[in-house]
Amino acid sequence: MNNCELDFADVFSRIVQIEDLHSELTSLLDKVILETGLGCPKGCRSCCLTPAYNIEVSLLEFLPLSLRLWRYGLAERLLQRLEETGEEDPCVLFERNSDLLSNGGCTFYEYRPMMCRLFGISAMIGKTGEIKPVVCKIIKAYYPSSVQRFLETVEDGSLVLPVFSHFRSRIEGIDPHLAERVYPINMALKRAIEFIGLRWNLCSLERNRPA
Ligand code: SF4
Repeated sequence: MNNCELDFADVFSRIVQIEDLHSELTSLLDKVILETGLGCPKGCRSCCLTPAYNIEVSLLEFLPLSLRLWRYGLAERLLQRLEETGEEDPCVLFERNSDLLSNGGCTFYEYRPMMCRLFGISAMIGKTGEIKPVVCKIIKAYYPSSVQRFLETVEDGSLVLPVFSHFRSRIEGIDPHLAERVYPINMALKRAIEFIGLRWNLCSLERNRPA
């Protein structure tokens, strides 16, 4: 393997670890939704309809998506859109038009970062170390009695919730350097696409170099 491929192999291993963590988080949330009947109202896109600076993400979490974008030849077009998009604008992956995307606004839903996955239902650690459930206000407004039952279930300890800080430190454990800094979501995506792009283009140069 040449240096470039070695470097890419290292990036691949981090991508696999992030995808495994995202899947674990999704399974935990699916269990909570199954047990409580709580979840985002169909077609809701409120959490995405906000300036990108309100959603902070590390570039590490966007490496899986960036690799797919380069693999399927979509990266340069999205980089162009990101050049034209500011942090006052919503996330570039957000589709406002519910006719085009009826279930919700995310155009790359399975690659969305942890902050987006935990926005609806999650937990945080309170001052005295207690688990404090966090529920999106839209869900509270739509399902008040289910939210009440949910809070009671959490209180009696029979429901395991994903704790934001726990998953944050596990992301940092994958690559402390790339996870350390968070950016407004569009900037994080741009930097992740550039990070993979550099390696992708270098490796293709290496591959095509005459022997
Ligand atoms: S990544 Fe998807 S879920 Fe997250 S803000 Fe962007 S559009 Fe919304």
